Amino acid sequence: MADPKTAKKGAGTGEPETASRVFSGMQPSGEAHLGNYLGALRQWVRLQDDHECFFCIVDQHAITGEFSPEELPARVFDLAVSFLAVGLDPERSTIFVQSDVAEHTELAWLLNAVAPVGELERMTQYKDKSARLESIPAGLLNYPILQAADILLYQATAVPVGEDQLQHLELTREIARRWNGRFGQLFPEPRPILSDAGRILGLDGNAKMSKSLGNTVGILAEPEQVWDRVRTAVTDPQRVRRDDPGRPEVCNVFSLHKHFTEPDRIPDIAGQCRAGTRGCVECKKILSDSIADHFAEARARAAELRDDPREVYRILEEGAERARQEARSTIRQVRERMGMDWASRRPD
Ligand code: SF4
Repeated sequence: MADPKTAKKGAGTGEPETASRVFSGMQPSGEAHLGNYLGALRQWVRLQDDHECFFCIVDQHAITGEFSPEELPARVFDLAVSFLAVGLDPERSTIFVQSDVAEHTELAWLLNAVAPVGELERMTQYKDKSARLESIPAGLLNYPILQAADILLYQATAVPVGEDQLQHLELTREIARRWNGRFGQLFPEPRPILSDAGRILGLDGNAKMSKSLGNTVGILAEPEQVWDRVRTAVTDPQRVRRDDPGRPEVCNVFSLHKHFTEPDRIPDIAGQCRAGTRGCVECKKILSDSIADHFAEARARAAELRDDPREVYRILEEGAERARQEARSTIRQVRERMGMDWASRRPD
């Protein structure tokens, strides 16, 4: 694991310049997609150079929406393969599954003592999701308390987040403040490390990239599968005929080029688009090849892991054991402060 005292860089990356203990989680929706990679995973890979990192597959969060118990284990496994394939390193980071560490749910319950219902009801994600439901599961409202528990259990000082999760992280800070105020200082107030990718739109060029919307490209897809997906991407709607001048600045294909195509090719892609001298199909093919090349090593690593699934299980089990040691230490202190250490006071 990285020595937190050796941290040095971070300037200009949105990442902290001093060493932090970092926690972040991702729901197990199977193989990661480009949005997961650009919005989180590539930053996580960088963070592990200089920070002490805990990366968690948060399967207990998945049950607050539609989910299939039959499919959940495979989705956890596939996400773990994606984590390892892109370079999350179990020698330097603690990589584990949330439900393997029972203290997450214990701390979530204990934080209920201070979590304000009014704030939970004000969460944008809760309002959006609950508005579409006839019957609202309590878990949807309480989701940010479990999120707070995930972070505070490891006394994390920094959390990589997208803009859409900032509100939840602010609530975590509020919960930490209230708990510390009531029971004595224990939890640091974690600061955000904002993703530098901005909002990653899906292939529809309209909504955030999300597996449930079917507008994604899997990072481990074979080159022909990448092309099958990228060829459907929505482009500048004003470009009807091949030689119509295009507007790269409004085209999501161009945004993706900026992430995956060699930087010295970008001016040519923009110029040919504006001049109407390269068609969208050819432009998308270049993007598809760039994406497939970018993940060639990750695909090879994933194939090795799938051939040896025991290795994936071993890594997650070892990660859970390391996580449990930290979690138990925090929970012991929480219980003491909240008066749940009666058994240790038994007279001799
Ligand atoms: Fe988009 Fe490329 Fe078509 Fe221009 S040429 S509109 S950047 S897909």
